[in-house]
Amino acid sequence: MDDKAKTLYIVIGCDTDPDRQGFIDIIPGNKLSWRGMTEGIPDTKLAVMDIKDSGGKSPVFTWLMRADDQINIIYGAYNWVLENYKGLIEDLEKTGDEIGWHPHFYKHNDKHGIWYQELKDVSWQCRMLESAHKSFGEIFPGKPRSVRTGWLYHNNETMKKLDELGLKIDFSAVPGLRTNPVKKIKFHYNIYDWFSTGKECYHPSEADYRRAAREGERELSILEVPNFTSHSWFWGMVSGFYMAGKMKDPVQIIQAIRKPTFWVSLSAGRKWFSPIIKSLAKELRRPTESDIFFITYFHPDELIENRSKIYNRDNLKRNLKSIINLSDRLEIPHRYIRAEDIPLLISE
Ligand SMILES: [Zn+2]
Repeated sequence: MDDKAKTLYIVIGCDTDPDRQGFIDIIPGNKLSWRGMTEGIPDTKLAVMDIKDSGGKSPVFTWLMRADDQINIIYGAYNWVLENYKGLIEDLEKTGDEIGWHPHFYKHNDKHGIWYQELKDVSWQCRMLESAHKSFGEIFPGKPRSVRTGWLYHNNETMKKLDELGLKIDFSAVPGLRTNPVKKIKFHYNIYDWFSTGKECYHPSEADYRRAAREGERELSILEVPNFTSHSWFWGMVSGFYMAGKMKDPVQIIQAIRKPTFWVSLSAGRKWFSPIIKSLAKELRRPTESDIFFITYFHPDELIENRSKIYNRDNLKRNLKSIINLSDRLEIPHRYIRAEDIPLLISE
């Protein structure tokens, strides 16, 4: 079998969130800080320019911009980020990048003065998506076409709403991972469920966003494109124990035993990113002619000086180089693409 016919397509998505408190040293008063975006993104574009794909093209990115209720409450407009940083965004688009959407389901609790993830009020979630989407299109008509939701969250109604709004690609899925709302915790964060999802792209069933439609079920037009994960047993367990601590939920360990899954940012240190590279090598060596879509992610505050010992711009550059070198070694052509290019490349 001639396995050289296949191509590795690399999609680099960035959840363009504000700088995270505790991650970056200086966070000004009651506003959000966007240094990762304004400083980190242009610097990184320059830093990776020389890491070309086999078509001689520099990396392209899919920048997923925040437009949601939190932005609306803090700045008075859903599309504030798009309007305020329009120049920067247009410059990125000129280099071939895509501008997509990263809506968080943040709701504010005035009594406790905190932001939390709204999980129960589905009609609020859908109304919020509708308003934010409309507002996005006022600054960038016809956009967004691609989306990854905040904390990867979905339910059947939010997926249906994105489909109805005309979004072409959702790449929130992280196959094998799930976090559960713990009863004793009142305000939730970081809740999502992709435990049963497989690694192939699919058009979600109206009856269950986590899988393709079965006979008799309606299929949505939007394409779900899963992120690339490693199923290394060791790293899956590392992730399970870490998540058990973070989410205060021992069930995370049981889930990791059932489905060891590891997912990490493109800006993570060599040790942390190596399981992803190993799994990609395995995938590239499979004797099949199907193309491979390698979907990865990072956050802008990982690109500037930060308190973490794991995430930085140099790591991102090195990891990207490792992907290209691996693909070259295996003589598999590689191409950087935007998320919105995926449907055109998938033969149905
Ligand atoms: Zn986010």
